[in-house]
Amino acid sequence: MKNNWKIFKKTFRELSLFWPFFFFLFFLVLFLVFYSFKFSWFSFFFLAILSIFLFLVFRQIFSLIKRYFILSKERNYILSIVEGLLDAVIAYDEDFVVTVFNSSAEKMFSLSKKEVIGKVIKPSLIREPSWQLLVQVVFPSLAPAIKNRVKSKFREEFDLVFKEPEREFHISSGRLLDAKGKIIGFVKVIHDSTRERQLLKEKTEFLDIAAHNLNTPATEIRWGIETLSQILQERKDLPQEVSSLISKLKRAISNLIEIVDEILSAAKIEEGRFGYNFQLGDIEELIEERLKKWLDIAQKHSLKVYFSKSKERLPKVFFDKFRIGLVIDNLLENAILYNVKNGEIEVKVEKDPQRPYLIVSVRDTGIGIGEKEREKVFAKFFRSEKAKKHQVEGIGLGLYICRNIIRRHGGKIWFKSVENRGSTFYFSLPVKKELIPPKEVPLV
Ligand code: ADP
Repeated sequence: MKNNWKIFKKTFRELSLFWPFFFFLFFLVLFLVFYSFKFSWFSFFFLAILSIFLFLVFRQIFSLIKRYFILSKERNYILSIVEGLLDAVIAYDEDFVVTVFNSSAEKMFSLSKKEVIGKVIKPSLIREPSWQLLVQVVFPSLAPAIKNRVKSKFREEFDLVFKEPEREFHISSGRLLDAKGKIIGFVKVIHDSTRERQLLKEKTEFLDIAAHNLNTPATEIRWGIETLSQILQERKDLPQEVSSLISKLKRAISNLIEIVDEILSAAKIEEGRFGYNFQLGDIEELIEERLKKWLDIAQKHSLKVYFSKSKERLPKVFFDKFRIGLVIDNLLENAILYNVKNGEIEVKVEKDPQRPYLIVSVRDTGIGIGEKEREKVFAKFFRSEKAKKHQVEGIGLGLYICRNIIRRHGGKIWFKSVENRGSTFYFSLPVKKELIPPKEVPLV
């Protein structure tokens, strides 16, 4: 209400030029009616109609002006939000004439609003060094590398990677539509992820070096513990404490070797040199083989494990037995570690009813994954708060590796989960060899 009054006062002030004109017209009419004509019902009627007409016209003008002020106020409001954003925002119309270029964009592209707003961005501008970066953002196909492209009808997200200087931008791009749904322009929000990427790269490089250096001594320690265990087992008078200590040491060293392997695998994946050996195989056979390893461990955690084979005969598929074995191991290990006592695990294989794929699922009755954390589950080094409390060990690389392995096979990995009720992880594998991508493109 207070706001409306302010707008009204402002509009009234802005209309100041109209008021003398309005009063002049009004007195002119009065003068004409009372002096030029004799009073008659006709002139009275004429005056009444004219007043109503004038009233309607001014009301219309008034509401138009009011609308103009509201719109310009909203526009300023939105522009100040856009101005305050840390991410760069650029909007342009269908003819690539720039209409919005915020302060962060000025800093990011080292160009001023004055230079950019109203300018037509053409691919040929790429020849001018100061415009190069902006042109590549507007026309991503001109950039040296595009990564992680996700496209939907109205939005597109991708990363642009530049060399010399090394920079990485995460870009969300959308269309601007008018009230009738017609495209009137485009908007791009650009997040400079160079620093984050650099930190992540440094973290992975550090871990990679650490893992490489840990690999040899860890393998030697495992060999030493196993030899020692064999020697000691031959002794009949071996105290119980010593044999339980040996078991603990064995478990600790195999955990350490698993972590070292995961770090080395993640580094290889990022460099696109994980290497795959595709062969025709039976996925149910592989699951049975992997389950043998995990049954004892599941029993120790008081868990029941079921394997529901497909009712129909499944076709053989092309996969890397070792790598898909790793995926199955990972999903089973998580289903055990994040389960509750006396819980269940069910492994299933089915044919996708609509597409030429086989779907493997691993269902558990464990802690589940909260709504807020779902997006991050396949990200590198992610561990949920709940998972950290429930299971201290783990570095959050398993699912990241699984996602890359499944992607390399032309399949997908996803999950459904209800917090405190359990999770089901699924992955699909194509039945047709042609659906397997020709080369390894890492998802980082
Ligand atoms: P890690 O198990 O070493 O932490 P993963 O990459 O295998 O790493 O899993 C990442 C995170 O995803 C886990 O830390 C956990 O928070 C969550 N998660 C994975 N599987 C499950 C599951 N079956 N139930 C609940 N949370 C899970």
